[in-house]
This record gives sequence, C-alpha cells and structure tokens, in this order.
Amino acid sequence: MSSFTPIVDHAKCTGCEECVDVCPVEVFEMENEKSVPVNADECMGCESCVEVCESDAITIEES
Ligand code: SF4
Ligand code: SF4
Repeated sequence: MSSFTPIVDHAKCTGCEECVDVCPVEVFEMENEKSVPVNADECMGCESCVEVCESDAITIEES
C-alpha cells in the first residue's frame, strides 16, 4: 500500500485555514498562522487539500 506525506510550503501558505476544514482525517492544524500537517500519518492521499489551496502551497508525496 502507498503512503502519503502532505507537505506545506510556508513561504506560500497565507493561513486561510481551508485545508484544515477540508481534510477528512484532520491532518492539519494552524500554528503561528501557518498550516502544519501534524497528523501526516493519517493522510490517505485524497488531494482535497491540494485542490482547495489557492496558493498551491500543498504537495502530497507518495511513497
Ligand atoms: S489552504 Fe493553503 S494557504 Fe490555506 S492554510 Fe492551507 S496551506 Fe495555507
Ligand atoms: S490529501 Fe486528503 S487526507 Fe491527505 S492531507 Fe490532504 S485532504 Fe487530508
């Protein structure tokens, strides 16, 4: 089975919190107005966060 690792580019993140709201398994939390994938292990690779992020700040690495 593949595993997925969400990565947030903090240079691009505007702190809109959309990814926090959209992720069905609550991967993201806000820290200092940036999104942090604190529960990265839970990611199932749906890419909803990638689609919702208007700053293109999120990438999902598959391994
Ligand atoms: S959706 Fe994108 S810009 Fe908004 S908080 Fe998440 S990573 Fe940052
Ligand atoms: S790809 Fe899906 S499960 Fe993974 S962090 Fe993004 S919204 Fe959450």
